[in-house]
Amino acid sequence: MVDIIKVKGLYSMCVRRHAPLLTTIERYYHAKHLRTSRMFPGLVSSPPTRQQVDKSSRSQFPETLCKSQKLMLQMGLIQGAAAGTFYTLPLLTRSLEKLKRVIDRTMQNIGAQKVTTPCLAPASIWKASDRWDVMGSELLKLKDRQEKDLCLAPIGRKFRDEMRPKNGLLRGREFEMKDLYTFDASLKEAEVSYNEVCEAYLQMFKELHLDIVKVEADSGAMGGSKSHEYQLISEIGEDTILRCTKCGTSISQELADSHPESKKCLQENCPGNWTETTGIEIAHTFLLGTKYSKIFKAQALLANNKVVDMQMGCYGIGVSRLLASAIEVLSTEEYIRWPQLLAPHQVCIISQQTGHFFEESLSIAESLQEELLSKSHLHNEVILDDRHKLSIGKRLIICEQFGFPYLIIVGKKVQEATPLFEFVDVYKGEKQFLSREQIVSRLSQIDTVVV
Ligand SMILES: [Zn+2]
Repeated sequence: MVDIIKVKGLYSMCVRRHAPLLTTIERYYHAKHLRTSRMFPGLVSSPPTRQQVDKSSRSQFPETLCKSQKLMLQMGLIQGAAAGTFYTLPLLTRSLEKLKRVIDRTMQNIGAQKVTTPCLAPASIWKASDRWDVMGSELLKLKDRQEKDLCLAPIGRKFRDEMRPKNGLLRGREFEMKDLYTFDASLKEAEVSYNEVCEAYLQMFKELHLDIVKVEADSGAMGGSKSHEYQLISEIGEDTILRCTKCGTSISQELADSHPESKKCLQENCPGNWTETTGIEIAHTFLLGTKYSKIFKAQALLANNKVVDMQMGCYGIGVSRLLASAIEVLSTEEYIRWPQLLAPHQVCIISQQTGHFFEESLSIAESLQEELLSKSHLHNEVILDDRHKLSIGKRLIICEQFGFPYLIIVGKKVQEATPLFEFVDVYKGEKQFLSREQIVSRLSQIDTVVV
């Protein structure tokens, strides 16, 4: 048993075992705090309508909002802080945590090790590689009390002095990225590393069921000999991609413009035509060569005692951007759809409205929740919708809007000789009546990411 401290309606994250320090103290058993009535505003009552969101966000976001941003504001997943910065509220935070676990797992599978780097970086290292100037005014620069130049380094959690932040988490001034660097003693080995990472990225996108295309790209300001972008096809995407109708080879418009030969030589080998489509860049990979290792003296000592500059590769996945753009592409105007594996909670149990054998329904719902939560892969995944003033039908619609993949309704049929629950597979659009054992067995087979 834990104590949860509630302060002025803010859902407190402080969980304490002993004597509480603050005002109202309430005690709950484990399962009971996964209740919508105890969760952050988005789920407390019904979400505001789109018109209300449009109206209330007009002063804060002068530009037209894209679909995912509207949905996230409406459902209480984000809240605007200042231009291009957002509070990530509990449900979205959970989903982001899951994405980070999936990324970590993918990186560990190819032998990558995790480190953290400070955001605050001295200008000297950025000046050494000329990037202080190349990055221009997008690099957020500041001075400390000794008037020393510093910047908020675009590595890990990134800061970008974006001129026109827009589309919520898609183009903000602060966002999360997963960076990766590889170091090899020869170009040949570096290419092997490069291909291994590209393959791992594609495999991960497949695991998330996202239609992401690997596109040959310009190395731009990073430099290097080879680079690819990973683009999620979407009409709100700002990048134009040329895609071959026959073989599916894709190149970025930028590359086609700056190196027309890249377009020609592919066409010689293949009878297909180029079609134009737009995408959102989710990830980028670069084979950098020795551009940075020369400057910073990252060297390897070979067996023959020869010292060589390391061949570098650099890779990045836009973490918050990936999730936001997936929501953009998968959702309808009213219903959020997550990459199913990343939905903040996989299961929501809805018990009866006040008055209709309410007590009995609630106690069955609680015991089912308890049983499901005891499975290790469902840890924290099963919530109980106890907004008893709302009808089951109303709550069902709201839960479908939130995109929880599996809904269980404790309705009238649980009173029958063989009690049955209505089981909704939201992503498949299937509804059926199942016994408790069937539900437990069905949910014991689903994939989850435990956070
Ligand atoms: Zn082709």
